Amino acid sequence: MPERLTPGELLTLDRQHVWHPYGPMPGKAAPLLVESASGVRLRLAEPVEGQDELVDGMSSWWSAVHGYNHPVLNDAAHGQLERMSHVMFGGLTHEPAVRLAKRLVDISPEPLQHVFLADSGSVSVEVAVKMCLQYWRSLGKPRKQRLLTWRGGYHGDTWQPMSVCDPDGGMHELWQGALPRQIFADAPPAGFDAAPDEAYAAHLRELIGRHAEELAAVIVEPVVQGAGGMSFHSPAYLRVLREACDEHGVLLVFDEIATGFGRTGALFAAEHAGVAPDVMCLGKALTGGYLTLAATLCTTAVADGISRGALPVLAHGPTFMGNPLATAVADASISLLLSQDWGQEVKRIEAGLRNGLAAAADLPGVREVRVLGAIGVVQLDHEVDMAAATRAAVREGVWLRPFRDLIYTMPPYITGDDDVARICAAVCAAAREG
Ligand SMILES: *Cc1c(COP(=O)(O)O)cnc(C)c1O
Repeated sequence: MPERLTPGELLTLDRQHVWHPYGPMPGKAAPLLVESASGVRLRLAEPVEGQDELVDGMSSWWSAVHGYNHPVLNDAAHGQLERMSHVMFGGLTHEPAVRLAKRLVDISPEPLQHVFLADSGSVSVEVAVKMCLQYWRSLGKPRKQRLLTWRGGYHGDTWQPMSVCDPDGGMHELWQGALPRQIFADAPPAGFDAAPDEAYAAHLRELIGRHAEELAAVIVEPVVQGAGGMSFHSPAYLRVLREACDEHGVLLVFDEIATGFGRTGALFAAEHAGVAPDVMCLGKALTGGYLTLAATLCTTAVADGISRGALPVLAHGPTFMGNPLATAVADASISLLLSQDWGQEVKRIEAGLRNGLAAAADLPGVREVRVLGAIGVVQLDHEVDMAAATRAAVREGVWLRPFRDLIYTMPPYITGDDDVARICAAVCAAAREG
């Protein structure tokens, strides 16, 4: 064993050498040092604000739906580790990847039949875009290479995904001019239950029709726009997109990286609309938060189109494609999800969030409180003071990671009612102090 470093030494080295998401170098705000995690609790290496354990309100960014250190997922990882943790996927295959692909085909919307296993969500979006562009090239329509999306979205941090992130808010403003120029519709009108706005539907149809000649695909997050602003919209607009794409010969991509695996109350958010995309991206909760893995699914029409091209292959192949450890855990995580009444658990958490966050609506500085499935959001009328809000949540024994004007939670599905209430109290405390 290497020599143990003290928490103080680790944090100093971290600050000097380690980039964190969207962070400066050297680091400014000290991250919390986590020693282990179990169930819904993160155990800290040293107490912070009097707490040595925090209830995780973030599921490690939408991923740890079964909580941490789960015996079933641990067994899947151990079992696979003893067979092999990795082999290359070019010219070789293995049971965990095949089983996972078959399972994804079985549980996803019916027309999706083929699975590309990628190593992160952003890469799965790159692959989705590549599939769409290659499809049109194969069909002799190379001009169809732009994308259309609506404002307020988030699709990842690599190049093509950044080009369809919200062009105004967020991190990607910096890249205007360097990124491919895509076509942006207005953000969808807010509200999952709101009556569909006919004028907005007409706006979508008009824009898709006007640009059809140059459009390869429309790409959106169905029902919930996550990191772009945690907003919800009516599933009716997904039907409008499906119809307009069919009418004008444009592919439709749903990025379900955040919404997949039950988070919104449906296994996939597309089910709220009753429509299927041509291409779908999955990630985040795919491995129950254990390992990095994502998937891009497509229809047989898309796969056949690609196969008819001058280069009749999908031109992508990451080194760690189909990683056996990650695919074995993903398959176990999906079985575990489907073996229980996950829908009931999500409903239970939804009720707990509605109940516990209602009080936030009356706090000064709060613009709106919204809940859908196991997602609870408090939107302020000002930028969150991250440090103050985080400290307030930690004092309540809860881990939250607010951003922009948003304090939000999407707890693991195993979170008990008392812990849901505690998370809500922490969100309210963060809203009060942030
Ligand atoms: C997180 C996210 C991504 C990017 O996934 P990474 O694994 O972080 O690359 C893409 N799209 C959506 C909707 C996401 O929430």
